[in-house]
Amino acid sequence: MIRPCATIGILGGGQLGRMLALAAAQYGLKTHVYTPEADSPAFEVAAQRTCAAYEDEASLIRFAKACDVVTYEFENVPRRTAEIVGSFAPLFPDSDALATTQDRLSEKTFVAGLGIATAPFRAVASEDDLREALVALGRPAVLKTRRFGYDGKGQVLIGPDGDPGEIWGTMHQAPCILEGFVAFDKEVSVVAARAQGGGFAAYDVCANTHRHHILDITRVPAGVSARAEEEALGVARRIADALDYVGVLTVEMFLVKDGAAEQIVVNEIAPRVHNSGHWTIEGALTSQFAQHVRAICGWPLGSPRRLGAIEMRT
Ligand code: AMP
Repeated sequence: MIRPCATIGILGGGQLGRMLALAAAQYGLKTHVYTPEADSPAFEVAAQRTCAAYEDEASLIRFAKACDVVTYEFENVPRRTAEIVGSFAPLFPDSDALATTQDRLSEKTFVAGLGIATAPFRAVASEDDLREALVALGRPAVLKTRRFGYDGKGQVLIGPDGDPGEIWGTMHQAPCILEGFVAFDKEVSVVAARAQGGGFAAYDVCANTHRHHILDITRVPAGVSARAEEEALGVARRIADALDYVGVLTVEMFLVKDGAAEQIVVNEIAPRVHNSGHWTIEGALTSQFAQHVRAICGWPLGSPRRLGAIEMRT
């Protein structure tokens, strides 16, 4: 168990890292931020800073040795970086959870392997693959890069007239995944935490609307049936357990309605705190940032109880 005055290492220096560092400070913990970018927002609030490349093995080892526990604030930290750090300091979530969730193909294969619904998908590494996948999945379909996509970047909706050759040409040879289009009723997310001993605490399901692919409004309660709420929370727990996850994770899902039947379809797992969970700072007994700190420190999870009805505009 990590005690106050200990140092939490954070790989990544963005706004989520900054908010994690502030939550850690409230518990009397210090943070050490490691990021290649000199003007990182998290640097301003960290006790120690390392500005070095994710491939700089000597700096990574020095950083890990200076920390009591290490976490990351975004999923594009290279796997090798996480492995190096994880062999010199406890790392949560671990490098396997990172590797599974940072690649859309391994993520969807993992989720489908648990018997949880996803959009139908195919790996695409060439124009021929794309043509075959379009025949198999039909149109419309969504072509996404396997890695580094966010807020709709690195993805193309392929309609009835989309030319596979032209579209493949815009992906710059990046390994991709083609997904069948999911005609969803709502987009929801579950922000949840899993403790080192396997304890689990989820915030209420969030309903999210996007504008230009960027999260615009989050509402909680999500306005879904009690059964859909229970299914969404259950799916998040199964995923967290199967990853042997420690920390806060977020599962983005589609709610699909077919008459009276409802189905939860997993879109994506974020191995971190999430922008649809920022309302927990003022709107829940324990914020997602405090919860992540508690989980990685081996402390009991805080209560995720919501304090009122939430409408959060980002
Ligand atoms: P993503 O980058 O996977 O989170 O996707 C960004 C947004 O694109 C999602 O929030 C959805 O609104 C939409 N989207 C992604 N994948 C699909 C899909 N297979 N079917 C329908 N809409 C999708």
